[in-house]
Amino acid sequence: MKIHDVGLLASSVALLLVVSESCAILSPSGTPVVLKRTQMHMGTLVSITAVGQTNRDANEAINAGFQEVKRLEQLLSTWIPESELSRVNIAAGRKPVLVSPETMTVVQRSLQVAEMTEGAFNIAIGPAVDAWSVSAEPRIPTAAELEVLKPLMDLHAVHVNVRERTIYLEKSGMRIDVGGIGKGYAADQAVMAMKKAGGVAGVVALSGDIKTFGWLPDGNKFSVGIQHPRKEGVILAEIDLQDEAISTAGDYERFFEKDGIRYHHILDPNTLQPARGCQSVSVIAKEGVWADGLDTGIFVLGPGRGMELVEQLDDVEAIIVDQAGQVHVSSGLRNRVRILLEVEGEGRSPKP
Ligand code: ADP
Ligand code: MG
Repeated sequence: MKIHDVGLLASSVALLLVVSESCAILSPSGTPVVLKRTQMHMGTLVSITAVGQTNRDANEAINAGFQEVKRLEQLLSTWIPESELSRVNIAAGRKPVLVSPETMTVVQRSLQVAEMTEGAFNIAIGPAVDAWSVSAEPRIPTAAELEVLKPLMDLHAVHVNVRERTIYLEKSGMRIDVGGIGKGYAADQAVMAMKKAGGVAGVVALSGDIKTFGWLPDGNKFSVGIQHPRKEGVILAEIDLQDEAISTAGDYERFFEKDGIRYHHILDPNTLQPARGCQSVSVIAKEGVWADGLDTGIFVLGPGRGMELVEQLDDVEAIIVDQAGQVHVSSGLRNRVRILLEVEGEGRSPKP
């Protein structure tokens, strides 16, 4: 059994920033400055690039971005026992919990993505993810074990009261976790904070969840690379973004292999087994919260139904690498994305 958990390491960065890798491009006075800094937050590597009129402006924009990510982590992380979401989870089956507007928004968006993806995206799936413990000591849970957990994944039992600003999980043992959408939301919010602090352009990248605003001082857009799903650190495709977000869900981030079969961290809520249709899904949208929620949901839907959904949505595009290694590009991206390499198909899948 091989265990791979690169989710927390620098090498896991699903989307590598191609441009602005340099730490500081100091320019002659009068022209904008580009700065980049990296820190660990939300269990991942967060890089923030800022363009400012001065060194100080760019630095302040970066500080504001990191500050916002840290603030949201305190609200949303289920690794922090006192976070708002942890308090919602602890009160499951007992009582509603008052939450901040930010937590409310993420949970509402999560339920919207669930609806858009016909339940493929499900923030209550945590107990099943734990049963697989894909990132700790990997094991294959029995069908009976998973069946017992199924009622806990019922999204009708997640009650959101907008007026009172409370969230109530009706069944004890239920748990909500925004691991599949929260980083995209944090990228959006960090960008807003950077703009407020005087940043004129920039990029916030929480591992594979990236949001950009504006453009580089030379007039170029921010170029991002999409990670090859089977070659660590190798870029499969490139795309230029302006005031857009990109997010990638892949089966290579946290997984283990047994008897030649890959078991990874994105589960199909119908079967509670790892979703089998894709190797990776990258979604581009105006906002990171949609890009992040949809990449996970579309990963579960698979390339056929997933691309159908993308084509129905305005301002949402996708690059899907299916299980056979075929790269599917949505109609709005065909002239924008540069595919650099091919992907091999999968050797073995479990018997249905
Ligand atoms: P990451 O960048 O952390 O890998 P993803 O956007 O790829 O995030 O989402 C993966 C995370 O989402 C998993 O770690 C798990 O906690 C959660 N998850 C797994 N399956 C689902 C699902 N069907 N719906 C929503 N969240 C899921
Ligand atoms: Mg996601």
